[in-house]
Amino acid sequence: MTERTIEGTIIAGERLEPVEGRLVIEDGHISAIEEASVASSSIICPTFINAHTHIGDSIAKDAGSKLTVEALFAPPDGLKHQLLRRADSEELIEAMAATLRFMQRAGIGACYDFREGGIEGVEQFRQASASLELDAIAFGRGDPSVLEVADGYGASGAADGSFEAARNVALSAEKPFAIHAGEVDSGDINAALDLDPDFVVHMVHPEPLHLERIEDMRVPIVCCPRSNLLTGVGTPPIEELLERTLVALGTDNVLLNSPSMFREMATMVMVLGVDPLDALRMATVDAAAILDRPDGVLEEGRPARLFVLDGGSDNLVGTVDPIRAVTCRAEVADIDEVSLAPI
Ligand SMILES: [Zn+2]
Repeated sequence: MTERTIEGTIIAGERLEPVEGRLVIEDGHISAIEEASVASSSIICPTFINAHTHIGDSIAKDAGSKLTVEALFAPPDGLKHQLLRRADSEELIEAMAATLRFMQRAGIGACYDFREGGIEGVEQFRQASASLELDAIAFGRGDPSVLEVADGYGASGAADGSFEAARNVALSAEKPFAIHAGEVDSGDINAALDLDPDFVVHMVHPEPLHLERIEDMRVPIVCCPRSNLLTGVGTPPIEELLERTLVALGTDNVLLNSPSMFREMATMVMVLGVDPLDALRMATVDAAAILDRPDGVLEEGRPARLFVLDGGSDNLVGTVDPIRAVTCRAEVADIDEVSLAPI
């Protein structure tokens, strides 16, 4: 049996309560969280879950900055799809691997990625993530047969075609089905909800009827506020969504954004006025709950998937509020260690 103890302020339990003391790990699982006065200024946090990415467009970071969301991303001929078609497979795999390595170093323990390119696209994604401990979850696209290799199905949007068949195949394969909706306007929200998705991405423009449906169905929402700000489509009504359902957080296209959850949370707090604790819950506990994962929470019996911030770094030294420190102030450079025990 291997045993290890980390001391500091532990962001503990589903309520993300800062507890000063020791976190004990035995054989990759948390065996105890002991409250005690300790000398360490470390902040110990569950690893983040980036609940919506498109890491395929890591090949074209910062391209198309003046284009509309349709010109950038609408299949089949949006700029992203043209660039993906042109990309060499090796180049694509290495670009995705670099993004995954960055995410892992940035305290992210899992990402839910919408992977373009059908079965081949998912296979490239597997190669890119093979050597990492970050849990890279592939939501495949295209023919429903992609579900033979993908972890789930990620539909572009209800206006782009019929997804009934993919939805049914996902259901019988017992794999999650997710879809974008309400990004540019509200026109595709009802059709997306009719598919009974396991989660919906964006939801910038829900009308009262949609909010009622979201609450009745308890369908989780993944918000991507920085992506929405960059493409100029508006911002999601996060407080209203939080009152009704589980809400998680994603960084969306790597073409647009660095996949840093620190930046995503800070934007939500500073631009959208979201409470820092809600921001952290969206990035950890709630994102894990969407796919019923055991990570995202530090408590006894859970896998030891956590990162340690250096509370004595020149950036963080003197903080009196660990939740604000994690959500609004911390940066990747403040991370001392990322520990990703197997799930
Ligand atoms: Zn997306």
